[in-house]
Amino acid sequence: MPSFPGPVDSRLPRVGTTIFTVMSRLAAECGAINLSQGFPDFSAPPLLYELVSRHMHAGHNQYAPMAGTVQLREAIAGKVESLCGARYDPEHEITVTAGATQALFTAVTCLVRPGDEVIVFEPVYDCYVPAIELCGATAVRATLRHPGYRPDWAEVRRLVTRRTRLIMVNTPHNPSGAVWSEEDLRALAAIVRGTSIAVVADEVYEHIVFDGLRHESCARHPDLRERSLIVSSFGKTYHVTGWKVGYVLAPRELSAEFRKVHQFVVFTVNTPVQLALAEYLAEPSRYLELSAFYQRKRDLFRQGLAASRLQLLPCQGTYFQLASYQAISDEPDLALAERLTRTAGVASIPVSAFYGEPRQDRVLRFCFAKGDDTLARACERLARL
Ligand code: PMP
Ligand code: GLN
Repeated sequence: MPSFPGPVDSRLPRVGTTIFTVMSRLAAECGAINLSQGFPDFSAPPLLYELVSRHMHAGHNQYAPMAGTVQLREAIAGKVESLCGARYDPEHEITVTAGATQALFTAVTCLVRPGDEVIVFEPVYDCYVPAIELCGATAVRATLRHPGYRPDWAEVRRLVTRRTRLIMVNTPHNPSGAVWSEEDLRALAAIVRGTSIAVVADEVYEHIVFDGLRHESCARHPDLRERSLIVSSFGKTYHVTGWKVGYVLAPRELSAEFRKVHQFVVFTVNTPVQLALAEYLAEPSRYLELSAFYQRKRDLFRQGLAASRLQLLPCQGTYFQLASYQAISDEPDLALAERLTRTAGVASIPVSAFYGEPRQDRVLRFCFAKGDDTLARACERLARL
């Protein structure tokens, strides 16, 4: 086997394989129920697949325009306007991306320079900090304190410096399931007012919000809208995480910068899927029903665990449920997640993976985007702990 002749000077020396890949692989090896990596184990409605097939057979298989097909950008504009009352111009302010991960990476790359600071909220989704560090910038971590995981706006204000270029926010929040309120957005707006700080808003779980709460998009808030790149993903909304199609909403000047980088990262996103999504988006009930769909699953999962020794934390949105295991074990969460996968046959994600410095709140994350039978079997196993 040939090997590279010399030291490899890693740009990401502290990064290994993501916890999602590691736990999904272990679950497969052990034949465990996989509640670790976030993805549904059920299909989208057949119509969505038929639409893709129809567009492929109709010959729509060559490059789409760099920013996305006109049909999909118009459909996104219509959805955002009807939900948030904000009109984004499909021509200049909406870009279709290869999922949210690419959108987030491109957003950071187009704005952040060496020496800049970017504020993130910890626990933080795994792809933010590597993107920041690859730009030669520093991630500055604001705390979402266990167990409520609410932002501390006084702390955020203290973390802002002359070097702050960007603030990255995520609501509904992975992994905590916390959903920001209108007051949270107002507090954020007050902090950035009068500065040139931009906001990257990861809103991929925008359609999964429970108990009558409303998703507060940065698009709704005029002060935030003008400085935000808002990221979403069809993977979450239509049960197709493997399709990797998402989008970015941003004012014209920010979109122009975004597209400069986007065109050299992916250039453009696959055509028949975009055309199918554009048609599928035309029926609002397909995304409006998602909250009720997942709320029922959340409740089923919580009821199934009510008699267990896991202590369930609040879950206002996303398809993730956090559980504290203080009553069960004092092992570190990674060790417990691995042991439960091997011995109890249920895989989860240790929440310490979302922190830069080792930290133990003794919390595991379970994904409940699974069939009811799978959830019931997992609950049975977890209730025995
Ligand atoms: N942001 C968050 C908070 C996520 O949970 C995920 C994936 N589950 C992504 C971004 C990435 O989305 P995509 O698969 O569309 O790249
Ligand atoms: N976002 C998914 C999660 O939180 C994981 C996606 C991935 O594997 N990178 O589980």
